[in-house]
Amino acid sequence: MPHEDMKSPLIRGGGCGGAGGSRHLEASAPDPGAPVVGILGTGDFSRSLCRRLVASGYQVVVGSRTPKRSLALFPVDAEVTSQMEAASQADLVFVALFPEHYSTLAGLKPALAGKILVDVSNGLQINQMGPSHAEQLASEFPESYVVKGFNTISAWSLQMGPRDGSRQVLLCGDCANAKSTVAELCRAMGFVPVDMGHLSTTALEIENIPLRLFPSWRVPILFTTALFVFFYLYNFLRDVLHPFVTAGKSAFYKMPIETVNVTLPSVALVVLALVYLPGVFAAFLQLSWGTKYNRFPGWLDCWLARRKQFGLCSFMCAVLHALYSLCLPMRRSARYKLLNKAFEQVKAGVEDSWVDEDVWRMELYVSVGILALGFLSLLAVTSLPSVANGLNWREFNFIQSRLGYAALVMATVHTLLYGWARAFDSAQYHFNLPPTFVLVLPLPLAVLACRLALCAPCVASRLFRIRRGWERSRHIRFAPPPEEGGHRNGGSLEDVSHV
Ligand code: NAP
Repeated sequence: MPHEDMKSPLIRGGGCGGAGGSRHLEASAPDPGAPVVGILGTGDFSRSLCRRLVASGYQVVVGSRTPKRSLALFPVDAEVTSQMEAASQADLVFVALFPEHYSTLAGLKPALAGKILVDVSNGLQINQMGPSHAEQLASEFPESYVVKGFNTISAWSLQMGPRDGSRQVLLCGDCANAKSTVAELCRAMGFVPVDMGHLSTTALEIENIPLRLFPSWRVPILFTTALFVFFYLYNFLRDVLHPFVTAGKSAFYKMPIETVNVTLPSVALVVLALVYLPGVFAAFLQLSWGTKYNRFPGWLDCWLARRKQFGLCSFMCAVLHALYSLCLPMRRSARYKLLNKAFEQVKAGVEDSWVDEDVWRMELYVSVGILALGFLSLLAVTSLPSVANGLNWREFNFIQSRLGYAALVMATVHTLLYGWARAFDSAQYHFNLPPTFVLVLPLPLAVLACRLALCAPCVASRLFRIRRGWERSRHIRFAPPPEEGGHRNGGSLEDVSHV
């Protein structure tokens, strides 16, 4: 690079957010063969898009109602002019306006005829009925080719380039050539285009994507919350209300920390068991059918697809439990209790309060709990797409299945050690209600027992053969094509054999 070039900024001109902002991007010389890209509108999206296009070597012409006012916001390599001028010059035009303003572009119809219009708008309300904004634009400009896309990329991601944020750009449109031109543009900008189909079938769905609020998390979060509320009330009844009703002792101070801390591990263990339970169901169903080509019931498909979310909810409860437990000795109530106990001991003349069994139980209980949390942390980290992408299928499977089961075993042993002999002590049954761990343990123990049964050589080898395509009927049977929203288990991307 000549010395002079080294001194010049990567993109000249002020640009939005000051000159420093433009330096994120490396501008290539415009390719004379590349289409002239137009952008209508000079808002946040338009500015970010313009910078990225310029950096990717495109000639950009921006159309504004007030070009003079907007000029300073764009890199000098881009031309900022009137809407009509931009529409006439460009081969492909991004419509970076809110859909309610599309009608103001009616005068540009002749200039935009035969050109590609990219609709970047997001939906206004989730699950709004059609027609989509892209279809509305297509009906207003029947002589243009409308492609929906780029709305799932934020202005920020556009500005920072594909190294940040999602790399995928979902596209749809009715003209294959127009779509492939836009797809090529995506690639040149460093994004990955994904053809989703036609406007009438997918534009609305694509417009809804940025409005969705954790769709696959709803059930796991609701379930975890419901479980938390149930166990919290149960523990409140046993540990707070019981001493108050039976002995007039106020234990309400336990509500913010102690009761929460007994509730969290219960929720964590039940939810962790729920991560592995659907895999066990799936295995037993396949064994009983003698094939993997039957469809699982919808609820099981849905459950299998949400195991990661359940696992992360369990991890969050386990981490909170660890933090709360670390804080237990810091509390004033714990200090007063300790002092009172020591005083009582002195009064009673007890010199040594060491109980060997209690000491061992506690040591093992804490150690196994830490191991369980360690395994869970590894599972949580590897469930992040960026980490999972660096693992091959066998490595991912080893961590998610083997280490996952190891976490379940450790967490179950941790709870068993906590319970110890207390399950058989009638004094622990406040209001005739068993301690929480008695309620919690059956599910993980059942999952582990079923998993052990599936490991028996005769069962495991049969399951292995089924999952390699063997069928009891000896005839190859074809499952009907999946209905909308459902999956054929044989064709599912996620192999349930390893859960
Ligand atoms: P914005 O900052 O409000 O910009 C909209 C632009 O539209 C204005 O700069 C203006 O340009 C033009 N405009 C405003 N009022 C108008 C009117 N009455 N008639 C005609 N034109 C008018 O909005 P934005 O955030 O850039 O969003 C633009 C589109 O991109 C929206 O459809 C949005 O859903 C979509 N989008 C935005 C993002 C994002 O991160 N911001 C991400 C994905 C998709 P002139 O005054 O220069 O004409």
